[in-house]
Amino acid sequence: MKYSIGTRGSTLALAQANQVRNRLMAAYPGDEYEIKIIKTKGDMILNRPLNQIGDKGVFVKEIEQQLLEGNISLGVHSMKDMPAKSEDGLVFAKCWKREDPRDVLVLRRAKNLLELPQGAVIGTGSSRRQRQLLQLHPDLKVVDIRGNIETRLRKMEEQDLDGLVLAAAGLHRLGKENLITAYLDPEEMVPAPAQGILALQVRKDDGELLEKINGLYHRDTDRAAQAERGFLQGMGGDCHMPVGAFYQEESGIGQLRCVFGRSTGDNLIQVVVSGRDPLELAEKAVRKMKKELAGKVYLVGAGPGDPGLITVKGMEAIRAADCIVYDRLASPDLLREVKQGCECIYVGKENRNHTMRQEEINRLLCRKAVEYQRVVRLKGGDVYVFGRGGEEGLYLKEQGIPFQVIPGISSSLAGLAYAGIPITHRGMASGFHVVTAHDRRDELADLDFAAMAKGKDTLVFLMGLSKLEEIVEGLMLAGMKPDTWVAVIASATTNRQKTVMAKICDISFEVDKAGLDSPALIVVGSVVELRKHLNFFETRPLFGQRYVVTKIGRDVSPLTRYLKDAGAEVMELTTGSIVADSLEYTGEDLCGVDWLLFTSHNGVESFFSDFFQKGLDLRGLGSVKIAVIGKKTAESLSGYGLYPDLMPETYHSDALKEELIERVKPGEQLWYIKGAEAKADLCRAISGICKCRELIVYENRSVDIETSALADARRADGVFFTCASSAERFFAKMPVEQLRDDCMMYTIGKKTTAAIRRFWQGGVAEASRSTYEDLAELAVQKQNETKRRARNARK
Ligand code: SAH
Repeated sequence: MKYSIGTRGSTLALAQANQVRNRLMAAYPGDEYEIKIIKTKGDMILNRPLNQIGDKGVFVKEIEQQLLEGNISLGVHSMKDMPAKSEDGLVFAKCWKREDPRDVLVLRRAKNLLELPQGAVIGTGSSRRQRQLLQLHPDLKVVDIRGNIETRLRKMEEQDLDGLVLAAAGLHRLGKENLITAYLDPEEMVPAPAQGILALQVRKDDGELLEKINGLYHRDTDRAAQAERGFLQGMGGDCHMPVGAFYQEESGIGQLRCVFGRSTGDNLIQVVVSGRDPLELAEKAVRKMKKELAGKVYLVGAGPGDPGLITVKGMEAIRAADCIVYDRLASPDLLREVKQGCECIYVGKENRNHTMRQEEINRLLCRKAVEYQRVVRLKGGDVYVFGRGGEEGLYLKEQGIPFQVIPGISSSLAGLAYAGIPITHRGMASGFHVVTAHDRRDELADLDFAAMAKGKDTLVFLMGLSKLEEIVEGLMLAGMKPDTWVAVIASATTNRQKTVMAKICDISFEVDKAGLDSPALIVVGSVVELRKHLNFFETRPLFGQRYVVTKIGRDVSPLTRYLKDAGAEVMELTTGSIVADSLEYTGEDLCGVDWLLFTSHNGVESFFSDFFQKGLDLRGLGSVKIAVIGKKTAESLSGYGLYPDLMPETYHSDALKEELIERVKPGEQLWYIKGAEAKADLCRAISGICKCRELIVYENRSVDIETSALADARRADGVFFTCASSAERFFAKMPVEQLRDDCMMYTIGKKTTAAIRRFWQGGVAEASRSTYEDLAELAVQKQNETKRRARNARK
């Protein structure tokens, strides 16, 4: 037979392939074996550390492809480069005798590890070697180095490194044993799983070749490969995780030593197990390792939708999480609370379109618990109310992974409350049933309609919208009165909440007409009627409105709070950041000042932060009078125990100017504390009377507006502006034709209105007094007008 052997083109890979060929030719002299070089992705990307390429098996895919296509008959790889699983249709033959499995040091000056001086620089591309090396000798500096053996040796010289860690096997195969300074004990420096073993990969159906290769197998090596790779697989690992495993046998007893590390931070953990069967050993080591490593999994109920309805404990868990595995029903707002670097994984289950099966989620949780210290499984509503939390808990328990449950507020309770329906009420319902309308096969569950129709308890159906008609029919056939009240609440507790209530005989029709979508709750019982009096959520004045609030700086705008309180959904859009400047004056200079004038919160904050930084004392302001433009600025001032001597009736610069002209006396000195972009006309107006000095204490610097915020603006019912610079920056980035025609621009005052008018021909509403409360009130008025108009039109 003629066989072709596929290999990568590096010197080492070729040396391996040649050794395989020679061995096969010697054993089967009648066959012919040729070598074919195949370029892989790993050979082509040389400039990035291996563990950042991300793809498993970067050195193997192309070779496997050629095998599958029949272009080669045998692929030769290093077993340690192989992903945990072999490609479908391919198999590994039994292993041949292993080369030396140890790691070695190639040192330029020292003779061994201990002789290396503090700060000596050692190169390696593997995080396993790096961490073990540092565990052995914490004073070393380890740098990342990539490429084949020749490249690494060259880089060692070029970068003047003190040495490298390499695999003994590679150097042996290349005949470069003489470069090795010291062999590292595999008990201290546990090698990569299957290091020094060749992977001989053939097509599953190529029995003849498989038999030939298997004929040359080496028992101990094959057992080592099973144990070491069994461990790798059990840890869900690929070759880029910090993982090592080493199997040895003595008088029939095998010993498996393994190390493993989380992707972040700490030392590698080592476990040792012994026994007779390599695969059992691998399993034992995996169990032990997982126990050692296991972070905790927190099964957290996210609440029904309103992000404010998570528990305090749940929120703490989210903030501390290293990894979050979340559902569709968990509010995205909660994810904004995660700390930096937290891995967020979506495993949402859409109706009939399950993104990830439950079994996969279970396995994912275990994998992540090994990788991270704190994993949060965030689930809509409560964890155990039809959340399959029990299954996750049982699986974690089985795997020996500690977990904790943080219950959440179930939609089955909160959803009703937000729709104005008390789930029990004296004289109406003395209990409730919460049931799922779906069974395991996505069919209507086997419900005891007769019992339900008879009782007076409130019935709450989850996952029932698509089965509404069957539920109605079931209840009515079982004798429920046709005038029983039913409510269907969609997207409960969110700003999209929509409720339809009707008598049971009409509910299907009404729900259809209203076009409700899941998630939805179906509530049956007399308590539903109380909604007429207790509906507080959907009746809030701005309920259903979507607004964008433009703002400067990171803090949540007070306006956002006012609008949310009135029921609106609010997205913030940041147009700038405040950069404080330090001012050049001394305490003595202050003695000559009669007036300080502030026209903004930022002016106050920046001035005092600089004031205290200078080491000045508030008593230095003892005789200084203070003027402010309005209430908000006065509020900021009150934080320092100071109250203004002058504040105009209307919060506007013209009014301020007039009052100042009246109050300041000739010869007095006024300092105007302002932002860089504020106009100078105030000073000009009073400079005929007194000495006016402008001090620029902060700058409002523009920032890149996030694209997601611009997308929010396109859908918004209104956009709020509290300064002209925000308006200018917003319209510079937002083509007006992309905004809704009926979008209302809310503005805090004349200047801002003028800035908006330069771009926007549509509706603009200006607050009469320049305050946030006023702006929010204005939005309520506008909304009431719209509702009134709609009512009149209907009449
Ligand atoms: N564990 C969740 C329920 C998960 S089952 C809880 O305690 O709330 C999913 C079903 O819950 C949905 O089909 C729907 O019937 C209901 N549901 C969850 N959130 C909802 C919401 N915000 N509005 C209406 N129904 C909701």
